[in-house]
Amino acid sequence: MTIPASPSLDLHALRLDDAHALLEHGGTELPAPEQGAAAYLQSIIDGLCELSLRDPLTGLANRRHFRAVLSREIEIVARSGNSALLLMLDIDHFKKINDNHGHVAGDRVLQAVARCISSCVRPQDTVARYGGEEFAIVMPDCQAAYGETVAERIRQSIAALDIPVSPILNLQITTSVGGAFAPVWVRSTADIWIERADTQLYLAKAQGRNQVCIDHQQVISVSAEEKSLLFGSLAATESAWGELGDNHTPRFS
Ligand code: GH3
Ligand code: MG
Ligand code: MG
Repeated sequence: MTIPASPSLDLHALRLDDAHALLEHGGTELPAPEQGAAAYLQSIIDGLCELSLRDPLTGLANRRHFRAVLSREIEIVARSGNSALLLMLDIDHFKKINDNHGHVAGDRVLQAVARCISSCVRPQDTVARYGGEEFAIVMPDCQAAYGETVAERIRQSIAALDIPVSPILNLQITTSVGGAFAPVWVRSTADIWIERADTQLYLAKAQGRNQVCIDHQQVISVSAEEKSLLFGSLAATESAWGELGDNHTPRFS
């Protein structure tokens, strides 16, 4: 993208008051406009980008950011063959915390869990708040044994937390974790990857909660949707020729 250079940038011609107030309220330090229009505008843009990618309660990546990271990672895996792990984590019986101790206590628990997950992962991993009391972790370049160890470390670290939610009350919680490795050398989709991790999370819940379940399948099985992504154009060509039957379609088990 080529952006034409502007010889003079007149900040008064732009409506920046709302953006300025929003960022200042959120604690972003902005340079004085007098220090240079371009630098000021750049910091407003950077600040708004940052705001649009973060969950305000926990400071983690929000769902929008998570989706972008996941889509990028799936492309990398398909090209490089490196394995990557997606973990979905859900707090067990969280509703009871809100019901018994109030929403503010629930929020403190969410913040403590967010900090704990972040302390268990590598800088290149992305920790996101996926929804209410659900978190997602994207781990690039992650071998099976390492991924399993980290998932278990996260579960145990959260279970060991003693979370102060008021001056007189600390709470203990557990989480269920579902994980799935991205299929290597295959063009898949973020939705399929999330669905596979979600299935494992459901399994962890169904088996009694406070546990980790991981789908290790990497390329052995390819879903119908993945097949159509892989061979869609080929199939279209075949049907246009009208002669090649199923015998010519590459097979996956
Ligand atoms: P399960 O073990 O099956 O996951 O049960 P659960 O109670 O954790 O799950 P459920 O989906 O029934 O409840 C989730 C609760 O999370 C309900 C909702 O009020 C609460 N919640 C969602 N977002 C927030 C939030 O931002 N703050 C607080 N305090 N609570 C939230
Ligand atoms: Mg949930
Ligand atoms: Mg829950």
